[in-house]
Amino acid sequence: MNLFVVATPIGNLGDITFRAIEILQSVDLVAAEDTRTAKKLFAKFDIHTPFTSFHAHSTNRSAEKLVEKMKSGKSVALISEAGTPGISDPGFALIQKAIAAGIEVVPIPGACAAVVALSASGLPIDKFLFLGFLPRKKGKKTLLESLRGEQRTVVFYESPHRILKTISELRETLGDERKIVFARELTKMHEEFFRGNLAEAVSFLNSKKVRGEFTVVLGGNRK
Ligand code: SAM
Repeated sequence: MNLFVVATPIGNLGDITFRAIEILQSVDLVAAEDTRTAKKLFAKFDIHTPFTSFHAHSTNRSAEKLVEKMKSGKSVALISEAGTPGISDPGFALIQKAIAAGIEVVPIPGACAAVVALSASGLPIDKFLFLGFLPRKKGKKTLLESLRGEQRTVVFYESPHRILKTISELRETLGDERKIVFARELTKMHEEFFRGNLAEAVSFLNSKKVRGEFTVVLGGNRK
């Protein structure tokens, strides 16, 4: 049977699609990264499908068990805590094993914080580079230096605890003028966009304690 890779909302539950609800209601099993978020989603949309936990620390064996279920005729939907499974979220190993076992993998599209942030960033998005979460230590400096000549818009995820450090390091590496956008709490009640350059971004982050979820969009090196 099928493996459905189902995108779920990144905050506002109204962003789920009709198709996602139908699939989650009709599959035999939902493999969920976070069972608490899944329970909330299921309660809101009248979904009564059994679910199992499938997260970043799930073993190869749990992915294999799910593949065995699908081979025996069961359909499975994969959901992550929020957004599109596999995008800086678990899913890759299961999707890869399912494909290798000849199972049809069907994407059910929806929200992805990186794409949502890009869409309203106001920076050129005809081409972009997605970096997921930046390395915390090893390799970070080299990666930031590699962005000096990068002409494409760059998008990455960052936690509120590290954002000031990362943006200060970016400013040291790329200078004051490079454009930057923070998309905070997208689709939620306190959604906020900051648009400016790296010098302004450091002042902004120094001026208040920041919280919530951040997606960062960095302008390319363009004249
Ligand atoms: N798979 C998810 C997706 O498709 O959006 C991304 C998962 S990743 C583990 C979580 C990170 O995405 C957060 O730390 C934050 O950087 C970003 N993110 C998720 N929801 C967000 C939101 N509502 N607003 C801004 N950034 C968000």
